Amino acid sequence: SRAYNFAAGPAALPEPVLRQAQAELLEWNGARASIAEISHRSPEFMQVAAEAEADLRTLLSVPDDYAVLFLPGGATTQQALIALNFAACGQTADYVVSGHWGKVAVKQAQAYVAANVAASGEANGFRDIPAAAQWRLSPDAAYVHLTANETIHGVEFRPEWGEIPDTGTVPVFADFSSSIASEPLDVSRYGLVYAGAQKNLGPVGVTVVIVRRDLLERAGQPRAEIFNYAAHAKAGSMLNTPPSYNWYLAGLVFKWMLAEGGVEEFARRSAEKARLLYAAIDGSDGFYRNEVAASVRSRMNVPFFLHDEALTSAFLAQADEAGLLALKGHRVLGGIRASIYNAMPVDGVRALVDFMQDFRTRQG
Ligand code: PLP
Repeated sequence: SRAYNFAAGPAALPEPVLRQAQAELLEWNGARASIAEISHRSPEFMQVAAEAEADLRTLLSVPDDYAVLFLPGGATTQQALIALNFAACGQTADYVVSGHWGKVAVKQAQAYVAANVAASGEANGFRDIPAAAQWRLSPDAAYVHLTANETIHGVEFRPEWGEIPDTGTVPVFADFSSSIASEPLDVSRYGLVYAGAQKNLGPVGVTVVIVRRDLLERAGQPRAEIFNYAAHAKAGSMLNTPPSYNWYLAGLVFKWMLAEGGVEEFARRSAEKARLLYAAIDGSDGFYRNEVAASVRSRMNVPFFLHDEALTSAFLAQADEAGLLALKGHRVLGGIRASIYNAMPVDGVRALVDFMQDFRTRQG
């Protein structure tokens, strides 16, 4: 069987999806060509694209007044595009920064908007998310941006943290790249949700944007048509050649998630995986440590450190040998990081926890 891959993104894909893609690679459904080789406007691909959208709508219970786009460019491109599309030149936009990717979002938007950092956990090393009462929101902001799950710092908005405050008519835009489809999502709470696919939705190269249709009428700023969300929505995400193979693979992942029991089932599995891993860290008498406040610990990305950092490289090498791949922490933080997205089975986390206990015992 395959090794357990704890990579943060591109991340593990469900094995049945990879096997199906392999079986279908040379010829798609009687088309005498691969799905990667046929026109995105062919009836065959249009069907694949429509099914992927319908399945994602079912999976996330996306309301009808939201458009679903499948775009290239990754999450970072969306961070620039949301400013161009939804804010007037130099208008204020509020950013709640709970980790590295929130900072990147500010950086990408700064050329187009007055980015107001309404709250930031940086002074505390992003180990917590500032309480909503401390957010300095601007009444005239074009939008409020937040990162639902910080992939590097392992910080996620959880119910234990509290409620995202009511922002009135100012829409909330959220980067769900590393937690989308891991639990039910109330899309109607957001003006826009975006996610690079390469963690929970499929292969890198396609990005999902879910946007309330009335927002597409906002003038935004002068921009080329290719940077215009409304134009993409009107063209069914086929303004130009879309990342068709990635879209197809994401569609297979959506079908797999639905067949496994949908987001409710992945919420159950995610809670179980996170519980096992944090318990192993917290119960290690300080041999391992995670520094994130319990109320905002991520269920998807678990960064941790060894009490003696000199042991980190031995831990990583031995884990790799044991078939536990890609556990090296991001260079921003160092240490270890286990990304445990939907494609990671509970057994994979059990194997990691067993390895951690064994490694600790062997260090005496
Ligand atoms: N936002 C989050 C939460 C991420 O984890 C990442 C990448 O890991 C990004 C944004 C950047 O995504 P991309 O590389 O698709 O631009």
